[in-house]
Amino acid sequence: MSVQRTLAIIKPDAVAKGVAGQIITKIEQAGLTILAARMIHMSGEDAGGFYAVHRARPFYQSLCEFMTQGPCLPMVLEGDDAIRRWRDLMGATDPAKAAAGTIRKAFASSIESNAVHGSDAPETAAFEIAYFFSALDIHAR
Ligand code: ADP
Ligand code: MG
Repeated sequence: MSVQRTLAIIKPDAVAKGVAGQIITKIEQAGLTILAARMIHMSGEDAGGFYAVHRARPFYQSLCEFMTQGPCLPMVLEGDDAIRRWRDLMGATDPAKAAAGTIRKAFASSIESNAVHGSDAPETAAFEIAYFFSALDIHAR
């Protein structure tokens, strides 16, 4: 597998719970490199654009409201096979189905308030990284 970049977000529920540091530690311990990070508080428009792919889903409105509840921490992660590795570390969308040792098992409280986001493919990673970060914000090494 080649080196990939993926977009991670520590969602507002996890920031509010004060577990952002524990999540960052898991990212670093997994050997993924943080190339960029910033704290933002999304507007409804910001969240709606980010999740536009889900606009026909019944949970879209509620998801956008949840993502605007408070600040979140988008990050760019890099590593070999990073998209799959970050999603494996996140765990299943529904924490009731998430495996032991995953971030969602440890920190998510519901299928909606599930602590973290991760891109699901190279094309979505490219869109999502560019949604939050310019080239000058990303520190390759
Ligand atoms: P993932 O984040 O695991 O890639 P999806 O892309 O399917 O999951 O959904 C995006 C986000 O929408 C989820 O992380 C979660 O916050 C929310 N979500 C997904 N399914 C539901 C649902 N059935 N009810 C409420 N919120 C949901
Ligand atoms: Mg998804």
